[in-house]
This record gives sequence, C-alpha cells and structure tokens, in this order.
Amino acid sequence: GSTLEIRDLQVAVEDKEILRGVNLTVRAGETHAIMGPNGSGKSTLAYAIAGHPKYTVTGGQVLLDGADLLDMSVDERARAGLFLAMQYPVEVPGVSVSNFLRSAVTSVRGEAPKLREFAKDLKAGMDALSIDAAFAQRNLNEGFSGGEKKRHEILQLELLKPKIAVLDETDSGLDVDALRVVSEGINRFRSSGETGVLLITHYTRILRYVKPDFVHVFAGGRIVEQGGPELADKLEAEGYESYTKATA
Ligand code: ADP
Ligand code: MG
Ligand code: MG
Repeated sequence: GSTLEIRDLQVAVEDKEILRGVNLTVRAGETHAIMGPNGSGKSTLAYAIAGHPKYTVTGGQVLLDGADLLDMSVDERARAGLFLAMQYPVEVPGVSVSNFLRSAVTSVRGEAPKLREFAKDLKAGMDALSIDAAFAQRNLNEGFSGGEKKRHEILQLELLKPKIAVLDETDSGLDVDALRVVSEGINRFRSSGETGVLLITHYTRILRYVKPDFVHVFAGGRIVEQGGPELADKLEAEGYESYTKATA
C-alpha cells in the first residue's frame, strides 16, 4: 500500500505564513480526519498538497511513497496516485462531465479507457451516487449545486481510483440524504483497504458516517492535538474554543 508523508510543511499565501510545520503520515487503509476552526489553514494544506500556484511552500516535504510531490507538476501528482479534487474547480464551457472524466482517467492511466468500458464504469458510478443520467452531458461545473459538486468529486474518486485522496469540506452544503450518499461513496472507496483518505472538515457530522481511524486538530496552521475517533466526539461537545484561545 501507499504512504503519504507530510514533513514539517510550511506554506505562505501572499507572503503571509499560514502553515507552520505540519507533520502527518497517512498510510493505505487509514482514514485521517483533520478538524479545526475556520481560518486555521486546513484548505491551505489541501491546496499546497495539490500544487495550487497561490500557495508557496517555504519549507518541508510532501512524499508519496518516497517521491516528493512538491517537485511534481499537478498532472504528475495525479499520475502518482494523489486525488486532487480542486484541480478543476472552474466552469469549462463546451466540456461535458463525461468528456472531462474520460480525459481525467486517460491522463492518470496514461492511456484512454475503452469507450464501452468507460461508459459502463461511469454509469455504475453515477448509479451508486444517485446521480441522474443527464448529468454526464452537462457542461463541467456549470451551474452545479453544492450537492452536485460533491457528488461529482466522489464520482471522480470512484473512476480514478487514486492511492491517496485528500477531501476538503466534502460535507459542506449537503443535505442529510446527499451526505449519506457521498459518505457511502467514500466508504466504498476506502473499503479495499488499499487507499488512504485525508478528510478535512470543520464539522463532525460527516464523521458519523465515515469513521476516521485518527483525528487531528488543526489550529494556527499546525496540528495541536491528535487522537482516535473519540476526539471528534469531544470536539462535537466542546467545540474549538480551547484550541483557538491557546494559539491566539
Ligand atoms: P480553513 O480552511 O481552515 O478555514 P484556510 O486555509 O482557508 O483555512 O485559510 C487560512 C488562512 O489563510 C486565513 O487567514 C485565510 O485568510 C488565508 N488564506 C487562505 N487562502 C488565501 C488566499 N488564496 N489568499 C489570501 N489569503 C488566504
Ligand atoms: Mg516558518
Ligand atoms: Mg477551508
């Protein structure tokens, strides 16, 4: 199985230091939750791992099976087995969901999937996520609701079969039914035991459906506490106040 190793990662945005030395190892078969208050740098961590140009790495390493992701282009990171949900956040006129997904699979595998095989996998993935068939022909991200964006994210996961998935705020904007469908998708993805998941969230509610093996509390750009799933229950009961006071 694969291992994602984040070592003393420091990241700045527009000359402002946001991440102040993050250390975290995610192994295949493990689900890690990163939880923390708004503005603590959770999304900055996800963007930096994904290679977003606005986020400047000022120190540290991010290794996937020993290879430094930070030396790779965004495409190379995906080919190495990292799932980058926010690689294509923009609306792309004239590119359908189906075309986008097929070219994403082609890019990651290094060869185009057979049309019939792809169509079958796409239909199975959409059925599993209760996505209407017409969705495949819509323009990428154009007018997507919050729920459609999240379902599309999990659909990519099912088709691309990455080694490590970093999911940022996958639960935000979902009603209870959509949350359940999306959570089931994540659970299917990790059920092989061969993939690692880093689930970033402000709220504890998705963790009722997707049980993490480890919970990390993020505050002030670093991990300030770690524990098992019981830590999420503590956060649910007590909130983040004790952590934000300590780092303010
Ligand atoms: P979280 O996801 O935990 O809410 P973020 O990583 O989004 O936190 O933000 C952490 C800090 O970095 C905040 O102070 C935020 O204002 C700043 N920040 C994040 N992204 C940007 C950006 N693209 N431009 C300017 N500041 C940013
Ligand atoms: Mg520093
Ligand atoms: Mg965020």
